[in-house]
Amino acid sequence: MGLNRRRALLLAGTSAAVAGIDVAAPTPAQAVQTGWRWCRQCASLWRPGLPYTACPVGGGHSSVGSGNYLVKVEAGGGPGQAQWRLCTNCQAFWWRGNGHTGRCSGGPLGHNESGWGTISPRYRLETASNNTGGNGQSDWKYCSNCHVLVHNPTGTNAVGRCASLWTHDTGDSRNYRLKLGPPRS
Ligand SMILES: [Zn+2]
Ligand SMILES: [Zn+2]
Ligand SMILES: [Zn+2]
Repeated sequence: MGLNRRRALLLAGTSAAVAGIDVAAPTPAQAVQTGWRWCRQCASLWRPGLPYTACPVGGGHSSVGSGNYLVKVEAGGGPGQAQWRLCTNCQAFWWRGNGHTGRCSGGPLGHNESGWGTISPRYRLETASNNTGGNGQSDWKYCSNCHVLVHNPTGTNAVGRCASLWTHDTGDSRNYRLKLGPPRS
């Protein structure tokens, strides 16, 4: 389904909006969701499929140059940190494990886990030192200002754009690792 058709369905108020969350489950123990993208503008991990995207740079997030990232569903178990979510305001991948909603480019009250007919699954994020292998990419970091996962291979705070009043701050983050799937359009 193309983006325009999906958007039209969403605007028509149909329950097909839930199609933005297509969970592929190879086995019950290792449920993963494909199609997550890196935004080269803000450096965040984000998921296309909702009608409203809000990049901190302005306009929508970009998927140009991105791989096809896979994210594990929390209930699948295995290694990794629980409590990650999809924000239905800005479409970024964010952590709510500390009870705060962070800073969101899509709304003044912070990140949101329901909206547009979608309720975010709970996700589990592996680290570079504790993962189930396969094709993947490390140097993904948690920003303590906006609470979003950003790719930061340089280790400086100059990467991307943060939804807070400051730059991304990944200095206290673990080194997270995302699995990479085959490219898909
Ligand atoms: Zn962006
Ligand atoms: Zn958000
Ligand atoms: Zn940030």
